[in-house]
Amino acid sequence: MLIMHYTGMASAGAACRWLCDPASQVSCHYLVDDQGAVTQMVNEDRRAWHAGVSSWEGMSDINSRSIGIEVHNPGPEAGYPDFPPAQMAAVADLARDIVARHAIRPEHVLAHSDVAPGRKIDPGEKFDWKGLASAGVGLWVEPTGVADMAVLKPGDAGGAVSALQAALARFGYRIVVSGSYDEPTRIVVSALQRHFRPDRIDGIADAATQAILSALLVACGRGEAVS
Ligand SMILES: [Zn+2]
Repeated sequence: MLIMHYTGMASAGAACRWLCDPASQVSCHYLVDDQGAVTQMVNEDRRAWHAGVSSWEGMSDINSRSIGIEVHNPGPEAGYPDFPPAQMAAVADLARDIVARHAIRPEHVLAHSDVAPGRKIDPGEKFDWKGLASAGVGLWVEPTGVADMAVLKPGDAGGAVSALQAALARFGYRIVVSGSYDEPTRIVVSALQRHFRPDRIDGIADAATQAILSALLVACGRGEAVS
């Protein structure tokens, strides 16, 4: 897997020092600064400590099965600036090389927020996943056939909610299929939106959100899902 992060620190230099400090107990394979300069921090065949407590497709210990890229951005506490185009271009070049050499499937190029929803929101909704996909890295889908899908929202319960939860789980998110649109479900729907529908992140499974989830499942060969 390939996991994308933002540093959430004041500068790329500060992030580099933190990621090299044993006391931090965090590390990553690559750091990309805001100018697009790439620094390799850990060899790809070594385990880095970037994902923490995390899960995907029922697998925990994501650190043992992934490469982590920290993309410098100070994050929401510093106004969450846009990722400069030169930086995203450098991320795309680096990621394309990594996925090719390790045969990483598109659906396994993920955000930290995908594998640790509720705990992490990086690299956030400004990260250009669509541009990355057009450069050959990761999945991006456009929703189709959205008109007649009922909106599912916190507080709802029943078979449609179970189907939504099952679809989220089939894509890879860690979620319990309970039939009740509880807080963990809202958080996972928000994580899906943060990656694949960044225009509106509200944790409500509207028709477009459900259509995107279905299209993602089709794109990675896991069938149709939601309705
Ligand atoms: Zn992260």
